[in-house]
Amino acid sequence: MNSTSVQDVHGQTRPALARLRAAADKLVNPVRFMDICGTHAHGAFRSGLTTLLPPNVTLLSGMGGPACVTSQGDIDQFIDVCRRSGVTLCIHGDILRVTGSHGTLEQSRAEGADIRVVYSSQDALRLAAAEHHRQIVFAGVGFETGAACTAAAVLDADRLKLNNFSIIASHKLTMPAMRAILESGDVPIDGFLCPGHVSVIIGAAAFDPIVHEYHLPCVIAGYEAAQTAAGLARLTELVARGEPALENLYPQAVTEHGNQAAQVIMDKVFAAADWTWRGLGELKGSGLAVRPEYARYDARSRFSLKTPVAKEPMGNRCGDIITGRATPLECKMFGSACTPSHAIGPCMGNSQGACQSWFKFHRTRHLRKAQELA
Ligand code: SF4
Repeated sequence: MNSTSVQDVHGQTRPALARLRAAADKLVNPVRFMDICGTHAHGAFRSGLTTLLPPNVTLLSGMGGPACVTSQGDIDQFIDVCRRSGVTLCIHGDILRVTGSHGTLEQSRAEGADIRVVYSSQDALRLAAAEHHRQIVFAGVGFETGAACTAAAVLDADRLKLNNFSIIASHKLTMPAMRAILESGDVPIDGFLCPGHVSVIIGAAAFDPIVHEYHLPCVIAGYEAAQTAAGLARLTELVARGEPALENLYPQAVTEHGNQAAQVIMDKVFAAADWTWRGLGELKGSGLAVRPEYARYDARSRFSLKTPVAKEPMGNRCGDIITGRATPLECKMFGSACTPSHAIGPCMGNSQGACQSWFKFHRTRHLRKAQELA
């Protein structure tokens, strides 16, 4: 993704901001929009966009990145398997500092566990092909975008007859979480800024139920500051007109029904299952479990991993952050006990987390940009 700059905010983003302000002037009540992906929030902070929003428009940080919603129990299983003899655990870097019940993967690596940071499940697959003497386990976290890649790796491992490759599937489905947030009933939300990359897989039409059942506008947008501003402007216009509608502002990548080849692959390898989310608890049909036909690639059964009972750290507000009930500043640990270099919760421990975005940008650069642009 290209980085944004103050100059970008002045240039490409200015027309979208003008539209946003014009629509905001027509609002009867203040509005709160929720982003579903931490990349939107992170980009909005980094670019200074959050300083430029009209006072009656709030962007709530939603679920954040994959690491933010990966439960302590799943982290505990990653730590359990990486401590087994002969096992190499491949992970995405953003879960390295996410806490389990007894520490982080980063600490396990410092203590000697063979943990390698990879960019994709295909990297883990290549490692399995090159190192036959080791068991390679891929920690599959994230939403539909990552799930499709993990499913493809399982099918490739099957084709290549790799007996030393397996996955711990901890993938999540976006729609059950959106419904859970709405049905909790205590988080006022006026519309969703929907994630560009997940929508590439699931398709724009996947958000139809939010519009029709909950009468809330949904706008799919890319991640540049100008795209995010355009998404917020459109959401505000739709609310001001009283028109709950679904709009796709990212048509160069997102089609109505998504990437159907990826959906077929996911459906072949995974089945929907009840899953535990950090901050949301167990949600019906919200995760993806490996189908029995591919159980030999399921590290949970290969290594007889137990499902640990994990407790969230006392006093944290991580769940409230993920569901939009609180801002990071409302957590007593923010910036004191919990910082990016010593993260207690996942929202601080990875770059897509709301707390890390607030820590990095809200306290210093965010305010400096506001002064520059005033
Ligand atoms: S500051 Fe840390 S403990 Fe508090 S909500 Fe954020 S990540 Fe969780």
